[in-house]
Amino acid sequence: MVVKVKILTIFPELFPGFLGSSLTGKALKDGLWSLDVVNIRDYAFDKHGSVDDTPFGGGAGMVMRPDVLGEAIKASHKNGRIIYMSPRGKPLTQDLAKELGKEENITILCGRFEGVDERVIEAFKIEEVSIGDYILTGGDQAAQILLDAVLRLIPGVIGNEESIKDESFEGNLLEYSQYTRPVEWEGRKVPEVLMSGHHKNIEEWRKQQAIEITKKRRPDLYKKYLDLQKV
Ligand code: SAH
Repeated sequence: MVVKVKILTIFPELFPGFLGSSLTGKALKDGLWSLDVVNIRDYAFDKHGSVDDTPFGGGAGMVMRPDVLGEAIKASHKNGRIIYMSPRGKPLTQDLAKELGKEENITILCGRFEGVDERVIEAFKIEEVSIGDYILTGGDQAAQILLDAVLRLIPGVIGNEESIKDESFEGNLLEYSQYTRPVEWEGRKVPEVLMSGHHKNIEEWRKQQAIEITKKRRPDLYKKYLDLQKV
């Protein structure tokens, strides 16, 4: 399956951005996913390509017009999920990334200014997704982060599929600490057990580490982990 990504933006030059490099870039070249970038300005009604206007009710900034966005969406979005990157959206998590990784068509609307007219979100039943509790200048950056998380889960994008199973957030735990050569660096040694070749002990040590790190750094995740152990 090829994941077909459609981006609606007023800054098409920002794509593929960092998605064009490294593993996602190679996967794009290899045809594991495709990218179609739609310039919202092409659907503006005036020759200046206006896409925004002042907010009803007053207040700072500009809002993206529903009529222009509506035309852009109608012309480009045929099927699959349609997402608007928004600080008000549901938080992007590894679980959501996995869910989206199973979709064949993903359309993403990248906001600018103060955001988009609410009616367009209602009319097209657009899902809102946030990449965190902070404000960016635009949805383009957020869309690339979401896509990076989703695309690396497509079989074949990451060379070693095994590495996905063991990562942070699997089973609600953060990852254990990692070590590589040299065995001793500036007086610091690699934990003995990792060099023992005793797989069961290594696995046990890593699990314990993951639990302790999660408990200390992310009490919210740790609680989920404990709750899951009970069932
Ligand atoms: N006025 C809005 C913020 C607008 S920021 C508010 O207070 O909620 C401009 C655009 O950047 C948004 O339309 C959205 O597409 C994008 N954006 C900003 N922060 C984001 C975040 N944390 N997650 C996803 N998209 C974000």
